Amino acid sequence: MFKKGTPPNPSYRTIVRNHRPHHLFRNGLVFVALALFAAAAALAVVQPPETPAVYEARLTLDLPSPFPEAQNNYSVPFISQTEIRSGDTLAALLQRLRVRESGLLPFLIQDKNARSIYKLYPGRNVQAAHDQHGNLAWLRYQHTPYATEKGQAVSRWLEITPDEQGGFTAAEKTQAVSVQTRIAEGTIKNSLFGATDQADIPDAITMQMTEILGSKIDFIRDLRTDDHFRIIYETYSHEGQEVGAGRILALEFTNRNKTYEAVWFAPEGQSGSYYDFNGASLKGAFLRTALKFTRISSTFGMRKHPVHGGWRGHSGVDYAARTGTPIHATADGVVEFKGSKRGYGNTIILKHHNGYSTLYAHQSRYAKGLKKGDKVSQGQLIGYVGSTGWATGPHLHYEFRVNNKPIDPLSIELPVARTLEPAQKKAFDKAIAQYKDHIGYLAQMQGGTVQVARN
Ligand SMILES: [Zn+2]
Repeated sequence: MFKKGTPPNPSYRTIVRNHRPHHLFRNGLVFVALALFAAAAALAVVQPPETPAVYEARLTLDLPSPFPEAQNNYSVPFISQTEIRSGDTLAALLQRLRVRESGLLPFLIQDKNARSIYKLYPGRNVQAAHDQHGNLAWLRYQHTPYATEKGQAVSRWLEITPDEQGGFTAAEKTQAVSVQTRIAEGTIKNSLFGATDQADIPDAITMQMTEILGSKIDFIRDLRTDDHFRIIYETYSHEGQEVGAGRILALEFTNRNKTYEAVWFAPEGQSGSYYDFNGASLKGAFLRTALKFTRISSTFGMRKHPVHGGWRGHSGVDYAARTGTPIHATADGVVEFKGSKRGYGNTIILKHHNGYSTLYAHQSRYAKGLKKGDKVSQGQLIGYVGSTGWATGPHLHYEFRVNNKPIDPLSIELPVARTLEPAQKKAFDKAIAQYKDHIGYLAQMQGGTVQVARN
C-alpha cells in the first residue's frame, strides 16, 4: 500500500482543495504523501517540532507569506492514521499502521514515558510517519484530543521517535487547539436532540444547554413542539479535525412562549458562570428536575402522559425512566430520611433551607455510602430509578415540599441566586453586547448553521 517514488509537487492551493477537512481521515487507514511539507517533516525526524505541521494546512486557508518553497528532500514522510477500535491491542494497531520496527512493541510496553499508550481509548487516533525508505519517523497517539490548561484549550499526544542508538524515545506533547465559534438555531419538532442533531450541534453542547437552564426549565417534562433556541458555542479543532465541544457562550431558549437567555460571564478575578441578559445568575437554588436529560430520558420525557399524569391528584411529579437511571439532588441539603416508606418504596427525603424539602421515591437502590444526616450538594447522585413500592413501572416520583406539605414546584417561583454588582454589570453589558448582536443576526436568518471566524 505504500506509494513508491517521489510524489509530484502539487501547488498549495491544490492540496488545500483536495484535502478538505472531515473527508480525508474519516475512514480508517489513510496514506498521505505531501511533498510540500518535506522540510517540516525532515525536521520532525531530527527534532520533533511542537507543531505537527503536516495536516495544519488543511484548515489554514490564508496563505502564509512568504510561503515556504518545496524542497528537494528525500525524507518525505508517508503518514498513516488509524482509529482505535474497542478490543484493539497495541500489536494490532502497529500492524494496521504497517509499523514493523523490531523493538518498538517491547519499548512501548516497558518504557515509563510511554505509559499513556497502555490505555487505548476507542475512537482516538494513532498516526505513524515513515520516510522514503520505510523507516519510522514518528508514532503519535492522540490520547487527549482536547483538554483545558490554564484556561487554554490544548491537545495532548504521546510521541515516539527513533533515537540515534537504534532505540526509541517517548515524550508527551501538548499543543494549543484552535477554537471556532459557531452559531446555530433550531426548533423542536419531536425532541430536543432531534432539533440539535439537525442543527449539527454536538451532544455535549445540548447537555450544557439543559444544565445551564436547569433551574428554569424541566427539560424532561416541559419541552413542547415549536420550542425554539438560538445558541453560540465553541468547538475545538486540532490538525483540522474537530476534537471536541467547548463552552456555550450565549443561549436563548423559548419554552412554551417564555424566553430564557443565558450568557457566560466571568467577573474580574472570579470564576465564570451563566447569567441572564440582565445580569441575574442562572444558578438557582433548585434544579427543576432530579433526572439528567439524556438521549434516553428525552424520549421518555416527550411522552404526553407520564405514569400518573402530572402533579394534580397525587402530590408529586412522575418521571418515567429506565430502572437504574441516576437520581440527583435538586438542591443543597441534608439527608433527612433514607429507607422504605410503604407505597413510596425506597425513598430519600432531603431537607433544605427555609422549610423546603424534596422527596425521591420508588428507587431501585441508593447511592453508595449515602446515609441519614449526610450533606449533599445540588446535582449530587443520591440513588437510582426503580419501581419499589406501589409503582406500575420504573419511574421517579418526586415531591417538592414546603413545611412538609407537598406543593407543585411549577406553581411557585423558586428562590434564585445573586445578581451582579453595579461595577461588574458595566463589564457584563459590554461583554454581552456582541452575543446579543449574534443572536439578533440569527433571528434574521432562517435555519442552518453558520460558522463565524474568531478574531
Ligand atoms: Zn408518583
